[in-house]
Amino acid sequence: MKISAIEVYHRALPISGEPYRMALQTLTALDSTLVRVRTDSGLEGWGESCPLGPSYQPEHMLGGRAALADMAPHLIGRNPLHIQQVNHVMNQALCGSLYAKAAIDMALWDIAGKAYGARVCDLLGGAVREQLPSYYAISLLPPDAAAAVAQQKQAEGFKRLQLKVGGRDISEDIAAVRKVAEVLAPDTALAVDANRGLSARDAIQLSLACREQRFVLEQPCMTYEQCLGVRRQISHPLYLDEVITDLNMLLRAIGDNAADGFGMKQSRVGGLSQMRTIRDVCAAAGLPMTSDDTWGGDLIAASCLHLGATLQPALCDGVWIAAPYIDGHYDEENAIDIVAGQLRLPSGHGLGVVPQLAAGEAPLMQFD
Ligand SMILES: [Mg+2]
Repeated sequence: MKISAIEVYHRALPISGEPYRMALQTLTALDSTLVRVRTDSGLEGWGESCPLGPSYQPEHMLGGRAALADMAPHLIGRNPLHIQQVNHVMNQALCGSLYAKAAIDMALWDIAGKAYGARVCDLLGGAVREQLPSYYAISLLPPDAAAAVAQQKQAEGFKRLQLKVGGRDISEDIAAVRKVAEVLAPDTALAVDANRGLSARDAIQLSLACREQRFVLEQPCMTYEQCLGVRRQISHPLYLDEVITDLNMLLRAIGDNAADGFGMKQSRVGGLSQMRTIRDVCAAAGLPMTSDDTWGGDLIAASCLHLGATLQPALCDGVWIAAPYIDGHYDEENAIDIVAGQLRLPSGHGLGVVPQLAAGEAPLMQFD
């Protein structure tokens, strides 16, 4: 089998309702890219990439599409089932640009599933469960409003909540953590995520002021070194997210005993192939992780779900997807949605999601 063509499509993903606020960003819409990899066998696979706006990570979607244009000609004629080799070709063709590589990598896993008559989770080692927990991220809100959302989402069935903090006076963050903790059921887990928006001083203050509250503190500060310093002065478990940009950073963090768990984003580290390795490294180290990505639609949701389903439950902190915040689906029939805080694996071969194109829709770019 050979890759015969690569097509790139654009999808705008407006956020429904209120803007999504984090410490350093306020988002009203996401810019997503779909990639269709076609083969001479007639099988085709889909991938997606959707950086969380232009300032969440160093990479952004305009750069991602430029990277796809750069790499795609090198991939025509390659065997899509040799996923490792195609990744090697991408790395030889272009340094970095992991968000773009992740979309191609996802499409290759989708093709492989269809070719072997298996779901992506089967190819990744097998799902340990068909249904797994998602978690809900509470946007940066005043304390009472955040507590109200926490109550509502627990009533809907979520067993893990993430509360955004940072980018405002630390007293308001402390009040928000306390208010949300007050309404937490005993079996609801809480992550307090600053998305890099706290100084080391404020992160330490937050943890000390909320010593009685049960939560993990996620990515408090901008840099790895700041987080490492904070970790030595707080009593809460610490998770790293944004600074774990690839497998090498994960290995370094584990070697430094820098974290008690990881918020992992598939695109950031280069796609499913890399996430598979990260899953195994985290398991070997006995450290929990999430199987997330930076927003995106049904393809990214499916991909995160397939990987997440292969995690041992004790080391899986859930699969976050953007569906609650955006309207519509790429594939209405196989839409990925959260029901009572849970996600169900799609049943079709490959990713199990096939985007529907608008009538007459032409790709943004095409390579063959
Ligand atoms: Mg996070």
